[in-house]
Amino acid sequence: MKTDSIFIPKKIIGHIISYSLENDPDESCGMLQGTNSMVSKFFPMSNIHETPNNRYTMNPVEIIKVEDECDTAGESVIGIMHSHTHTQAYLSDTDVKHALTSGYLDQVYLVVSLVEKTRPVIRAFKLSEDGKISEIFIDFEGPKYISR
Ligand SMILES: [Zn+2]
Repeated sequence: MKTDSIFIPKKIIGHIISYSLENDPDESCGMLQGTNSMVSKFFPMSNIHETPNNRYTMNPVEIIKVEDECDTAGESVIGIMHSHTHTQAYLSDTDVKHALTSGYLDQVYLVVSLVEKTRPVIRAFKLSEDGKISEIFIDFEGPKYISR
């Protein structure tokens, strides 16, 4: 899947942000189901890392369940999401290492920053096999007012 954008319905964007705020100051994580670059469903996941305020580890049992659900729906996991509760919405070196060893490399990586709790920021990235980060555009239904 080569794409320079991902489409996330506004309802799902809202769910991702509210889930991130609920777990703050711990980091949140989740998976996104979809086809090509169209997201159809968000799965909030448990962060089982021992220091969840600055790291995340998704529960492997939940990952298997999500993979199964996606298969049943005839779709796939097209995105991995996590939040940064006190840093910017960019992939850290740890995030990149994590991604490269996770087996999820075709997926889009969403990062939610909650540095400013009333102004959450979501950005999306793709990774190359050698760990090069490139930002991609997040599209959604309806009008866009900001200049890009
Ligand atoms: Zn991170």
